[in-house]
Amino acid sequence: MLSIILPAYNEEDNIESAYHKIRDVLAPEKIAFEMVFVNDGSKDDTFEKIRNLADKVKDAKIIGVSFSRNFGKESAIFTGLSHATGDVCVVMDCDMQHPPETLIEMYHLWEKGYKIIEGVKRSRGKENILYKEFAKLFYSLISKSTGIDMYRSSDFKMLDRAVVDEYIKLSERNIFFRALSSWLGFKSVTVEFDVQERSSGSTKWSMHSLVRYAIGSITSFTTAPMQWITLLGFFFFIFAVLLGIQSLVKWGMGHALEGFTTVILLLLITGSLIMMSLGIIGYYLARIYEEIKGRPRSVIEEIIENEK
Ligand code: UDP
Ligand code: MG
Repeated sequence: MLSIILPAYNEEDNIESAYHKIRDVLAPEKIAFEMVFVNDGSKDDTFEKIRNLADKVKDAKIIGVSFSRNFGKESAIFTGLSHATGDVCVVMDCDMQHPPETLIEMYHLWEKGYKIIEGVKRSRGKENILYKEFAKLFYSLISKSTGIDMYRSSDFKMLDRAVVDEYIKLSERNIFFRALSSWLGFKSVTVEFDVQERSSGSTKWSMHSLVRYAIGSITSFTTAPMQWITLLGFFFFIFAVLLGIQSLVKWGMGHALEGFTTVILLLLITGSLIMMSLGIIGYYLARIYEEIKGRPRSVIEEIIENEK
């Protein structure tokens, strides 16, 4: 059986249509499926819609998990995967920007023995310029520090039960789903898809949440920024030594007062570098603190399930 995990945040208009679209694609292929909706603390009637759907649907299992507040898409994916019962799971957006038709291709690849089937974006669909540039910057940063091409990657992935079991065993609180499948290993393959238009509503990310997500995912997946600091410090040290020699020579030649501008500049530069570095270290400290508290990834308020 195929489990479809759908994180949903304020998606009341997309719940039913997601079911219909997915069923219309899977039924002709005779692929049995269940849907695991994770309501990520929606402020609208998303969970009511999930409940109604579960009452109505008889030909597939519908599971609805509701969080007590918004915990973010990553937590929703994790919770969805831990409640799924299928032999193979797929994570999809509720807004159907990940085309259900691609499921068939993915499913056949799974049958051929691939354990991770990753959806990669052939095109990124409609996005505004600011978002596009921001995404580019973010992904080039991640790609450089992790060595994984992230610009085209997405959360649209099909995972074999073995992979899911390993994934939900990971104990860290801040997980970055997109990058983790490459960390896990297993036999994997990519499938290209075109990002579709959102079926209804608007994107759930604000600029603020995107920046937070970007920083969060970089720091959860790599410690490279801390190494950049060391590197920066090293270059700055060379610079300082050269400047030191120059100043000494000047002093020896008897015109030492000249360098006032240099002193001010140096002070400003070192000051800002130190502050930036402390900020980065502080960020990692905060992450360690969060992990050490060992709080659950999310708080589940309610779980529903239809009889099937
Ligand atoms: N989502 C979520 N929690 C959040 C934000 C988004 O579960 O805090 C879900 C959302 O309901 C959707 C998916 O994540 O199913 C992708 O979100 P969205 O379509 O807003 O992002 P975009 O496609 O614009 O990147
Ligand atoms: Mg979307």
